[in-house]
Amino acid sequence: MEPVEIITGKTRLLGLIGYPVRHTISPGLHNTLSAALGQDYVYLPFEVHPTNLEKAVTGLQALGFTGFNVTIPYKEEVIKYLDRLSREAELIGAVNTVKICDRKLTGYNTDAEGFARSFAEMTGTGLKNKKMLVIGAGGTARAIAVKAALEGASKIYIVNRTRNKSENIVNIINQYITDIAESHDLDSIFELVPCSDVIINTTPLGMHPDVDKSPVEDSVLLKILKPSHIVYDVIYNPDKTRLLLCAEKAGCKIVNGLGMLFYQGIHAYEIWTETTIEKNILDEVYQAFLKISQRFG
Ligand code: NAP
Repeated sequence: MEPVEIITGKTRLLGLIGYPVRHTISPGLHNTLSAALGQDYVYLPFEVHPTNLEKAVTGLQALGFTGFNVTIPYKEEVIKYLDRLSREAELIGAVNTVKICDRKLTGYNTDAEGFARSFAEMTGTGLKNKKMLVIGAGGTARAIAVKAALEGASKIYIVNRTRNKSENIVNIINQYITDIAESHDLDSIFELVPCSDVIINTTPLGMHPDVDKSPVEDSVLLKILKPSHIVYDVIYNPDKTRLLLCAEKAGCKIVNGLGMLFYQGIHAYEIWTETTIEKNILDEVYQAFLKISQRFG
């Protein structure tokens, strides 16, 4: 038998904490990245019971981990166990990536960067001067809206079922970044779409298995969408949600959430390893990532 020496005493450690983590594709992505880059890291998922979050964070630090991802339900709660936050993570109020350096834990939010990079790559344009309509006001909406404001969007409308949640995001943007955000009721979409360049769904409406759902009725959308609109759905299963199919019919540029998922992982890896991953490696790893995500889809 050949010896198995994938992990040695020099291998550096990365991981994920969440509850549950059984369906995560992050180990596949990060271990593929390490192999592609010839980096001696291993990435492991840990299912952490809610009563053990603090112990898990302290434990990862004590074990010498270089960093770790944080997923549902701990993206906000983990903050109290960290030493500092990036500006974006502080404004977003959620952390999905932690880097440990000299025993200090710094929290980042790479969902925001994942969104911006996938948007740029898939649309060939940036967020600067864009008028954005964000549907939903949960954690993902906050990351996207804050990032768009930081990147120079000229207007951000947020519509949500629960109005105080959209108002909360609007206040953060207007108070700490720039005064461009407005909160509206869900049924204002009809008036807001014609004033927007980009429409983003951040609700789970349309996600597998509820593929018949959409945040806006098709008949309404088809009346107001123009081919110049970019319609972005953070959902990636199915590939094209009902919203994206409708937008495609109207001739719009459509983007799903797979690129956001990919680039949030890429950016986390760049933070941990302090490297920038070159385009040819990214393309190669993206092909592997597609295979991994199809297996989990
Ligand atoms: P969240 O914090 O729970 O927020 C969900 C939002 O959707 C809330 O604003 C909620 O409204 C709204 N919503 C839920 N059900 C609704 C309904 N039936 N009608 C109208 N509004 C409804 O969730 P999240 O963490 O932001 O995640 C949202 C979606 O993003 C999920 O589908 C998730 O899989 C996806 N996601 C994708 C990526 C990626 O990388 N592509 C990353 C993160 C998340 P209320 O405020 O009124 O409850």
